[in-house]
Amino acid sequence: MDMVSTAEPDPLDSLDTKVTRARASGAWWREIGHHGRRTRLLEWRRVMARRLPEILDLLQRENGKVRADAVVEMTAALTHVDWSARNARRVLSRRRVPSGPLMLNHLATVEYRPYGVIGVIGPWNYPVHTPVGSIAYALAAGNTVVFKPSEYTPAAGQWLLDTFEEAVPGRSVLQLAPGDGAVGAALCTAGVDKVAFTGSPATGARVLAACAASLTPVLLELGGKDAMVVAADADVPAAVEAALWGGCSNTGQSCAGIERVYVADPVYDRFLDLLARRAREVRSGTDFGRITMPGQLDVIRRHIEDALARGGRAVVGGPDSVRPPHVTGPVILADVPEDAAAMREETFGPVLVVNRVADAAEGVERANDSDYALGAAVFARRRAGALADGMRAGMISVNDVLSFPAVGALPFGGRGRSGFGRIHGADGLREFTVPTARTRKLFDVPLAVSTYARGGRDITRLERLVTRLYSR
Ligand code: NAD
Repeated sequence: MDMVSTAEPDPLDSLDTKVTRARASGAWWREIGHHGRRTRLLEWRRVMARRLPEILDLLQRENGKVRADAVVEMTAALTHVDWSARNARRVLSRRRVPSGPLMLNHLATVEYRPYGVIGVIGPWNYPVHTPVGSIAYALAAGNTVVFKPSEYTPAAGQWLLDTFEEAVPGRSVLQLAPGDGAVGAALCTAGVDKVAFTGSPATGARVLAACAASLTPVLLELGGKDAMVVAADADVPAAVEAALWGGCSNTGQSCAGIERVYVADPVYDRFLDLLARRAREVRSGTDFGRITMPGQLDVIRRHIEDALARGGRAVVGGPDSVRPPHVTGPVILADVPEDAAAMREETFGPVLVVNRVADAAEGVERANDSDYALGAAVFARRRAGALADGMRAGMISVNDVLSFPAVGALPFGGRGRSGFGRIHGADGLREFTVPTARTRKLFDVPLAVSTYARGGRDITRLERLVTRLYSR
């Protein structure tokens, strides 16, 4: 008689099996080449788009998003599946590079080979778009993937797997490893060839430490404390709308959401008045969802209370706006000292601090004074380009907000406490590859150097040649 186990499978036990299976399926995935992968990834995109109502409902139910935020998330996710599928061949295929005057007899090429198996660990705030930024690019580059979704959004993770299985049945090219942080930690040491982590800086540091022993490379997409700078000649109503949406869309739970706004003195009062008016019009339930992770409500309240205790002003809302499981509406604070928690730590809620600066240049200086450096926004007319040049960030929107993640070709990522490495665009494809250099000797040259068959004259001639070439 067969023994049938009724026990739940241990997620840690099955992890090794998943990595082994992913490695085995890699042979087929590589063999079908760029064209074959493009066909299958575009089919995945089609399946996802056809099943859109399903995931929009799920994102509302599981994550607490409003419909509009769910649609925005899925638009970005589909854009990146499409872009990565269509561009992998162009970006990653073997190409010729100049071999240089001293190596003219060699054909030099570079190609971008997949790592093998990528472990993707995702957060809950954009449970489809964020992991897709790693998954689609890793797959398009020829890797297979084991994906651990956030424990707060397991159903969205399952949906990604189900749609992929519908498009590419029975191949185990993408596998799901559901579970909590312990599963994420185990994935780091389960023999994957690279880990792509998106989440908080504290967990990112743990992932980096876990991967250090085996020298497993890591991509870290971490938090942000993004700032917007509004110059005196800016289109103030446009800047107000951008600040409000940039700070409060997805109920403020965006890594690259605006949390600090520095407004030049001549337009500060007008900006703040208009922002307050518009913030009071934001409708809970249509514009504004719930806070997904209950513990975050304490952080949001602490930041508001600390800002007020240090002399900041509550212009719209305040500590009472935090009513579990909701924040009832946007919270607008002003004149908050730069050492307040709301200025230094990630709030991850619908709280905007609006501070006065003498001019946009001071705004840029204050914006840059942060441990984080993910995204940034500048509103200006005359010196917009120069101000953007001065911003220390991985991504900058000029006269708009959060526009960069919607452009398939642009890399996404930060520096400092916001992490390192890139998803999206050509850099995002290369992030999941090993650049592999090749030279091929085409003919012999009279100058023999890299051989012990050389004569003393060869070295003298090389010495003369190098001097002439590089001393000019
Ligand atoms: P988190 O760090 O708590 O968790 C992220 C993921 O890591 C989860 O899947 C979790 O289970 C897993 N995890 C927990 N402990 C682990 C460990 N020791 N080893 C490996 N994995 C572990 O982050 P979160 O609260 O889910 O997400 C919010 C954070 O993510 C914010 O800081 C936000 O700014 C950031 N974020 C960044 C980006 C970006 O692209 N830069 C995008 C979205 C979110």
